[in-house]
Amino acid sequence: MAAMSFIRRQSLTTTVGAVRIGSSAPIAVQSMTNTDTADIDGTVEQVRALAKAGSELVRITVNSSEAAAAVPHIRDRLAAAGCTVPLVGDFHFNGHKLLTEHPACAEALAKYRINPGNVGRGSKRDSQFAQMIDIACRQAKPVRIGVNWGSLDQDLLARLMDENSALPQPATAQTVMREAIVRSALESAQLAVELGLPRDHIILSAKVSGVQDLIAVYRNLAARCDWPLHLGLTEAGMGSKGIVASTAGIGILLAEGIGDTIRVSLTPEPGGDRTQEVIVAQEILQTMGLRAFLPMVVACPGCGRTTSTYFQELAQRIQSHIRHRMPQWRQHHVGVENMTVAVMGCVVNGPGESRHANLGISLPGTGERPVAPVYEDGEKTVTLKGDHIADEFQQLIERYIERTYPPRSDTP
Ligand code: SF4
Repeated sequence: MAAMSFIRRQSLTTTVGAVRIGSSAPIAVQSMTNTDTADIDGTVEQVRALAKAGSELVRITVNSSEAAAAVPHIRDRLAAAGCTVPLVGDFHFNGHKLLTEHPACAEALAKYRINPGNVGRGSKRDSQFAQMIDIACRQAKPVRIGVNWGSLDQDLLARLMDENSALPQPATAQTVMREAIVRSALESAQLAVELGLPRDHIILSAKVSGVQDLIAVYRNLAARCDWPLHLGLTEAGMGSKGIVASTAGIGILLAEGIGDTIRVSLTPEPGGDRTQEVIVAQEILQTMGLRAFLPMVVACPGCGRTTSTYFQELAQRIQSHIRHRMPQWRQHHVGVENMTVAVMGCVVNGPGESRHANLGISLPGTGERPVAPVYEDGEKTVTLKGDHIADEFQQLIERYIERTYPPRSDTP
C-alpha cells in the first residue's frame, strides 16, 4: 500500500483492556450491540459476531439492574469462548447507581461511557458524575466522556445562549450549539481530572448528526485538548445514506489527522446484519490508507462492454471468499491484509489495473475472445478460459498467498 501523508494529531494514549487508543496507536474500530444486555445469550452472540468481524471494542447498553447483573456473565462467557474484546458500558441517567450496586459489572467492563448531558439534573448532576468517576478511579478504568447533541447539557446551553445574546454581535444559534457541545466535553473531562481520574484515562467524543457540524465540532475539540478522540456521527441513518454521511464526516477529519477510534453508527435494515458497521469502519480506514484489515478487491463498475452478470458475480464471489478466509489467513500469513486483487470487466482498463494489483484478472467483455488474462505482481502469468474461471482464479489467490506471505513464526 502506498504511504499516505496524513499527519496525525498528537494526543495522550489510553488503554482500554489490551487496546491502546491515541496517536501512538492504530486508529481503533469499535461498534455497539443492539441486543437487550439482560439477554445474555443474545448479547454474547452479537459481541462475538462483532469481534469476529473486526471490532476492537464493543459497547453494550447498561440501563437496568438486570443488564448490569448480566455484564459479568457476558464477560465470562466471552472469555470461555476465547473472545477477549474489551466491553464498554454505556450509561445514562442511572450509571452512578448501577456501577455502585453492581461492582462485578464495574469490574468486568473495560471502559465506562458517560454522557455528561444524561448524568443527572440540577444539583444531582455533579454528585452523580463524581460517583461514577470515583468508581472509575478505584477500578482503574478509563472513561469516555461522550457528548451527544441530542442530549446536550441544557443548563450549559442556556448559559452560553444567555452570554451570547448579551454580546454586541451575537453568534448564530448553530455556532453557540457547537460551542456548547465542545465545552460540555472539555469541562466534564476537566472535572473528571479534578476528581482524580488520571488524564490518560480519558477519551472524548462529541457526536452530532450533521456532517458539517461534526467536522466543525471535532476540529475545535482537537485544537483545544490533547485527549484521544472517538469519531462518529450519531444517528447516521440507514443504508447508503448512513454510509455516505459517516464516510464523508469521518473521512474528512481523518484526513486532517483527527480521530483515534471510530464507530459507524448505521441503522440496520430490519433483520440486517449488525456487523456491517464494522465492515464500513474498516473500509473507511483501509481505503484511506490508514490501516489494512483484509485484502482489498478493486473492481471496475462495469459498463456496456459487460453484457452478462458474470463479472459482478465473480467480483462478489472473490470479495466473499476473502472475507471468509481472512480469519485463517490472518493467523498464518504475515502481511496478507495488504494484498490487492483486481477484478475487471474487460481489457480496456483490465490489464492496466491488474498490473497495479498483486493479482488481477480481466474478464472478456462483449465481442472479446472468451479468455481471461491473469497478472501477478505486474506480469501476465496465465490466461484462464472455459467454465471454471472463478474456481481457478480463487485457487490462484490461495497459491499466491501461500507463496508470498510468509507463515507466522508463532503458528504451527
Ligand atoms: S474495465 Fe471495461 S468493463 Fe470495466 S468499466 Fe472499464 S470499459 Fe467497462
